[in-house]
Amino acid sequence: MATAPETAERPEEPDAEPESAVATARRQLERAAAHLDIDGNVVERLKHPRRVSRVSLPLERDDGSVTVYTGYRAQHDSVRGPYKGGLRYHPEVSEDECVGLAMWMTWKCAVMDLPFGGAKGGVVVDPKDLSSGEKERLTRRFAQELRADVGPMTDIPAPDMGTDPETMGWFMDAYSMQEGETTPGVVTGKPPVIGGSYGREEAPGRSVAIITREAVDYYDWDLTDTTVAVQGFGSVGANAARLLDEWGATVVAVSDVDGAIYDPDGLDTNDVMGHDERPGMVSGYDAPETLSNEALLELDVDVLIPAAIGNVVTESNVADVRADMVVEGANGPTTFAADEILESRGVPVIPDILANAGGVTVSYFEWLQDINRRSWSLERVNQELETEMLAAWDDVRSTFDRSDDLSWRDAAYVVGLQRVVDAHTARGLWP
Ligand code: GLU
Repeated sequence: MATAPETAERPEEPDAEPESAVATARRQLERAAAHLDIDGNVVERLKHPRRVSRVSLPLERDDGSVTVYTGYRAQHDSVRGPYKGGLRYHPEVSEDECVGLAMWMTWKCAVMDLPFGGAKGGVVVDPKDLSSGEKERLTRRFAQELRADVGPMTDIPAPDMGTDPETMGWFMDAYSMQEGETTPGVVTGKPPVIGGSYGREEAPGRSVAIITREAVDYYDWDLTDTTVAVQGFGSVGANAARLLDEWGATVVAVSDVDGAIYDPDGLDTNDVMGHDERPGMVSGYDAPETLSNEALLELDVDVLIPAAIGNVVTESNVADVRADMVVEGANGPTTFAADEILESRGVPVIPDILANAGGVTVSYFEWLQDINRRSWSLERVNQELETEMLAAWDDVRSTFDRSDDLSWRDAAYVVGLQRVVDAHTARGLWP
């Protein structure tokens, strides 16, 4: 049974310098590489992106003034196939963040055994500051500036934080207009009417729920006796929470940027509107208790799912995390230091590169549908996603079981990294 922390509001603790995504990604890579017999030169190569494009994006605002934004696209590794990964619109986007997130995409695609490499990009902007028209013009200009980098056989963007199917539709249209032919496969996560896949929006949350279910089962817990807290009620968190609720888990707390709602008897997750669906509705739900986002992370629950932003479980709050398992819905929610502390306490952390990989997996299905000009039913998408997630879970679980000194993250890295390294070895270094 979950209990609330004594004080809902705690004074902000002064936090150490936040760890950059690329620093975390490099330390994770080194740690995992130590478990594999691989050429150090290949590991060294994999610590760096193949290319990063930085572009300036002048945007004519609705009032006629011009604001220049900065955009990035980091391409990490493409040995297994075209670069793949999202575009985020967020004020904290930086080159380092894109590189770290691109590295995670390489491992994520390899863990899922998808024929893709890793990339990530974004624009340094708060999308809430833009009107819909401004967001469209910015996206079209971004597509134009990245035109030489992206393409259905080279690099395929997708939605991420601050972007959505509509954004992908504009991107696809801008690219297609310039190329002179309709090219749905240049991005995934589009609306189904222009070649998007059914089930793509729910896919990351669905995979988080599937992997949570499997991990709960692995530890011989019963899902119907399991309490869950979900930070972030956007597309990942909301879909994960609703599915776990449907499968019998007790979702005691969810949150959005405005705060968390808490009911020890379980929330009706279908009654809680997601932040994207209607801002403010998480706090508008009639829950017995409200908490801060930080306090949600400290609830005494069985499973904590951080599904909002990166770097939320850190060295400074990890001592207060009381969950018995963490399943990462967001990309990079746990810092390297916090991860090691949780490991020493025996708290399993099921990593992002496995848990939220349903998004890119259905992106792969979408890409296949676009190439073949033939759409799949929602039932087929969900069924094939389930199959792919269970296959990846089995690969990671058997690696985890083979050794006493691998964390779940190490095991996922070992599976993905081995595939990437094998491909590098088979292809050789050119020239
Ligand atoms: N942005 C998502 C992720 O972080 C999906 C990427 C994709 O579908 O290419 O996994």
